[in-house]
Amino acid sequence: MRRQQAGRLASAWALAISGCSGNKAVNSSNIDANHRLMAKAYHCDRAIGWCSTASSYNVELSPFNMAATRREMRSEQELLQELGRNIDGAAIITSTVRAARALRQQYSRQQQIAGRQGWRSPQILAWEPWLKTLWDAAILCGAETRILLNNAQEGELWLQVLAQDEAGTQTISMAGLAKQAQQAWQAMHRYRIELRDVRNDDNIDAKAFSRWAVELEKVCRRAQLLSPSQVESELSNLVRARKVPLPETIFLVGFDRTTPAQELLNDALRAAGCQVELTELESSIGERISGSAVTFARTLEEEIESAAQWVRATLLENPNQRIGVVMPSLGEMRDLLDAVFRRVLAPSSMEIHAANARLPYEFSLGTPMDRLPAVRTALTLLAWLDKSLRPEDASWLVVHGGFGTGASDARAMLDKKFRERDFQLGGKVSFSNFQEWLTRGGTDEDRSPLRRCLQRADVAAKRVDLKQHRSYADWREAMEELLSAAEWSLLTATDSAEYQLLRRWNALLNELSSLSAVTGSVRFSDAIKRLKSLAAAMLFTLETRNAPVQILGISEAAGLTFDRIWWLNAQAASWPARGHAQPFLPWSVQRAAHMPYADPAADAAFAQRVTRRILNSAPAVIVSCALQESDPTTASAHAPSPEIAISPAVRSALPDVPLIAIGEVLSSQILSTIQSEADAESSALEVVDEEPAIPFQGIQVRSGVRFLKDQAACPFQAFAEMRLAAEPIEEGDGGLPAKAQGIILHEVLQRFWDEMKSQKRLLESTEDECREILRTHIHHALRRFREHADESWQRALLDIEADRIESRLMDWLEVEKRRPDFTVVKTEDTLEQMHLGGVELRCRIDRIDQVEQGMVLLDYKTGKVDSKACDGERPEEPQLPAYAVLRQDSASDEKPLAGIAFAGLHPRNVDLTVVGSVAGVFPVVPGARSNPRGNLSAEGLRQQQEEWRTTLTRLAEDFVAGVAVVDPKKGRETCRYCAQGLLCRIREAEGVGGSSDEIASSIESGSFD
Ligand code: SF4
Repeated sequence: MRRQQAGRLASAWALAISGCSGNKAVNSSNIDANHRLMAKAYHCDRAIGWCSTASSYNVELSPFNMAATRREMRSEQELLQELGRNIDGAAIITSTVRAARALRQQYSRQQQIAGRQGWRSPQILAWEPWLKTLWDAAILCGAETRILLNNAQEGELWLQVLAQDEAGTQTISMAGLAKQAQQAWQAMHRYRIELRDVRNDDNIDAKAFSRWAVELEKVCRRAQLLSPSQVESELSNLVRARKVPLPETIFLVGFDRTTPAQELLNDALRAAGCQVELTELESSIGERISGSAVTFARTLEEEIESAAQWVRATLLENPNQRIGVVMPSLGEMRDLLDAVFRRVLAPSSMEIHAANARLPYEFSLGTPMDRLPAVRTALTLLAWLDKSLRPEDASWLVVHGGFGTGASDARAMLDKKFRERDFQLGGKVSFSNFQEWLTRGGTDEDRSPLRRCLQRADVAAKRVDLKQHRSYADWREAMEELLSAAEWSLLTATDSAEYQLLRRWNALLNELSSLSAVTGSVRFSDAIKRLKSLAAAMLFTLETRNAPVQILGISEAAGLTFDRIWWLNAQAASWPARGHAQPFLPWSVQRAAHMPYADPAADAAFAQRVTRRILNSAPAVIVSCALQESDPTTASAHAPSPEIAISPAVRSALPDVPLIAIGEVLSSQILSTIQSEADAESSALEVVDEEPAIPFQGIQVRSGVRFLKDQAACPFQAFAEMRLAAEPIEEGDGGLPAKAQGIILHEVLQRFWDEMKSQKRLLESTEDECREILRTHIHHALRRFREHADESWQRALLDIEADRIESRLMDWLEVEKRRPDFTVVKTEDTLEQMHLGGVELRCRIDRIDQVEQGMVLLDYKTGKVDSKACDGERPEEPQLPAYAVLRQDSASDEKPLAGIAFAGLHPRNVDLTVVGSVAGVFPVVPGARSNPRGNLSAEGLRQQQEEWRTTLTRLAEDFVAGVAVVDPKKGRETCRYCAQGLLCRIREAEGVGGSSDEIASSIESGSFD
């Protein structure tokens, strides 16, 4: 019997130390049975899928016990040599997965340097995966039968417990509450707090939590499950009972402090005869701290720029050095750091086609899976098969692709066409509607790949039947089938980075399917929701490529050593890191347990320890802080002094090191390198004469006289929109788009006046008759929108819009009734093949009325208009003057022009706005100041026409000549309504140039070029 047990233990330890590689030596039938049991319980592809998900267990270890256990100071080399001397009996357990990986790589490097061709794999694991291997070994030996939950499974159980509790169901976000409760539960076990101590407190939240915790314990007991928070204490019992296999020596590396639960296990390990050493890595004794400097920069940007320049110079000096850049709150600063380091260390990687360039630096911090484009594609596509998407999500999916085939520019055009499709009312986009639109569009080359791909996904979705209730494991299989049908591109990974991501995706699906062990059937929408939340919580980081520069957060740097370190952002506000105590655990209990953020003295001591650990991990460390976070011209006028700004924890660790300005730290060699590069750059610049403008080569310009309006507003805008066809996408954001409203008003008024013909008849008609005519035409104009209104809210919206249009037009008819007698001669009249300043164009006027004095031109406007909009050298609304001028040139001109006006149809301004007319053409409002433009003589109006001709001809000639200067008429106000900001790069120029006010004033003054 004892021999059998010993055999089991030996096999289990073999499995444990093999890092769950499916050791073939383990062939006991019992072991196989237990193995299958685990596979079934976790619903993983492979029974031992834990290694692939190991890093998801990489939760922060809350440091605690600093004084109780003596620490051995060792260099990395010494530690690895010690391990090598006892390769079968010793193991290194690190606080983070990254530290374990780095030590494994360093061990391999040492073996290679020693000239070895092959060597035994060292036992180097992170804490949580190691606990998991011990627990699995206990199960394989038959010493345990309880299934160890993963974090996702435990989270699911918390949701179930809260769903049964009255307080839980009353919360706004049960998922958020479950997360808080799970964190409190984990903290409680790490710090070995008894549940009765929580229950006995008067705090209402603590009482609610203890009630939930009791329920969770019951669920776990009934189902033979074990929370990961309890594994240390349970393993300590197994270790004391000699029921798990153990190495002879364990080196614990990178533990800034150990929790009481960890201490409990460590004590049990020692009692079982295992030698446990808490090891602190240091660079080389004697050199440390003496090579340190403490420095300050004026701004955060200057601090990061200096660090990047220093890293570059250090690497140029010796490319084999390992450099660490450490920063608290790295997550918030990552993008800024990446931008500066990329520019300084690898400028060639900024080229758009060099996305996969190998960079000399790596970030320790992973990215949440749901933020990665390939994963976002999968999540969005799966969600779309079930529910309609927001327009922006549908658009992102089509443009980004990542599934099916089709060129990216074709997909972008397809998206534009979809967003600008006729008769849309906005709102969410259903999968079936989009598919139908793709099919309706015929067999265009650009639509076929996407259409075929979505059809296949649709067929697969129907086969799977998304309306069913299934287990998470079944939905996982369905998701794989759906993504395969849609030809999700990650499934055919072509390079190492994609392959790593695919592995991580499979780990995510494993985690999802593992929920089947603790819950029943769910709907597809619930499975998608859960997958999204798991993806948001799971991080992905590419396996290290051993880049010489590692950019790390404070905790990720534990257990690592470097040749050089720069510690950024070490100001008092950032270090020690701020946090908060557990809201569900009584404060007094937390304080008694010395939990983080509950005991200021313990927190301060911990900060001191971590500070010293970082300073010890390289022979030379530069610590820096910024006095201000941003540009001093916009930041607070009173920057703190350097002595106040620097973290007190750093200052007390390096009391004798002077605090100096950042420029003094950069060696003269670095400064001279920067200077010589700047000189080389400036000497490389050459003065180039402005290139001559490229004249307009076409004959007829697009979009009627709009080019005149754009040329007047900003010549570059006209160039971009009329010659490069760089038009913005016009789409509705829910409701009748403004452009569609304009078209409908024009159409209704055209039909109304084609029927009514004259003011006389209008005055003879009753209000009801007019209303009835309008209603008929409004109904006709909206009919195509109604045909596309699939949802009830869209039909209700059209009813409201019809009422609003009717009411607005009834108000307008009142204005028409007040005018002197007129007859409508033409509606929507088009002048073809007209010429102005060398441009051929066509032009359309909304209405021509005949009055006693001559002809009146009317332009319907749904936006606000100003009577001065047609004035000056750069008129804002040149259409009416253009039509007046062009009509004069046309053969159809028989009657003299008597006046032109805007017919204002803005909801809050339904009125006439006279641009120019001879006296008596438009009504004079009693009591209003006389409008000088409405009181011109016939000669005055003719002269005005000639002025317009001169202005418009000059604008047209500029356009033909290719004048495309960036010159917005009213500075930022003009730019606000222009979509060409990316192309003209005015915003980029604002960022580079002086202050925004300076830029604005230079634009205002017209000097910006
Ligand atoms: S964004 Fe401003 S400067 Fe650029 S093209 Fe448009 S109006 Fe001109």
